Amino acid sequence: MLNVLTVPAFQDNYLWLIHDDKHAAVVDPGDAAPILAALEEHRLSLAAILLTHHHADHVGGVPDLLRRYRVPVFGPRNEAIPQVTHAVSEGDAIRLDTPNLKLEVLDVPGHTRGHIAYFASEQGWLFCGDTLFAGGCGRLFEGTPEQMIASLAKLAVLPDKTQIFCAHEYTLANLRFAREVEPENLAINTRLQLEQAKRDQGQPTVPSTIGLEKSTNPFLRYREPGIADRLLATGHLSDREPIAVFAALRQWKNSYR
Ligand code: ZN
Ligand code: FE
Repeated sequence: MLNVLTVPAFQDNYLWLIHDDKHAAVVDPGDAAPILAALEEHRLSLAAILLTHHHADHVGGVPDLLRRYRVPVFGPRNEAIPQVTHAVSEGDAIRLDTPNLKLEVLDVPGHTRGHIAYFASEQGWLFCGDTLFAGGCGRLFEGTPEQMIASLAKLAVLPDKTQIFCAHEYTLANLRFAREVEPENLAINTRLQLEQAKRDQGQPTVPSTIGLEKSTNPFLRYREPGIADRLLATGHLSDREPIAVFAALRQWKNSYR
């Protein structure tokens, strides 16, 4: 029986510990200290490190963890992360014995060139780094709108109940933007209230689910005619072509409040 521990780090990062009460695999350890503390608190021993992309807030803790634990480091084949011992890309399957975990690797470029996601189909868990966020998506630092569209489309076809373990708590800001983009979408307002209540109590809003994202996340909903209407009406778009709509949406979000 596996569980996922939420380990907050920095301002708004989540590091994930997948564990069986004895052994743990960590996803995106940007900082070693909170991971070492969580391992100690829960009496877990680290068995593997899984990286989604090369940004420091996702890999920064790897050297310190490796000083304490000699473990395999899985990471994107198309990014040069020095500590990676097992470079993986789409089509690869990862099989860990401890904890007993099977993961499928998906290529999800856009935020970075080689960004990958890990899908645990048995559990219905997706670890997607900075690609899909609750209510939003990652900024396009190295990739194109076309790439991010294709990456998000791969995630959107996962079962609705798939839990989305993204790497940041950006949900409220994302949903305020979503409400601006789709003022008529009542699901966004309902969700915003629920997520606000969680934050007021100091709880994370992550994991989300694919089903919830499909009904409230503008970056999965950019083909909705109302979104193009809204972008046109607010002067953010001149052309209703879907890639242009997605690009305009991403650009508007970059400068939103
Ligand atoms: Zn990043
Ligand atoms: Fe990040």
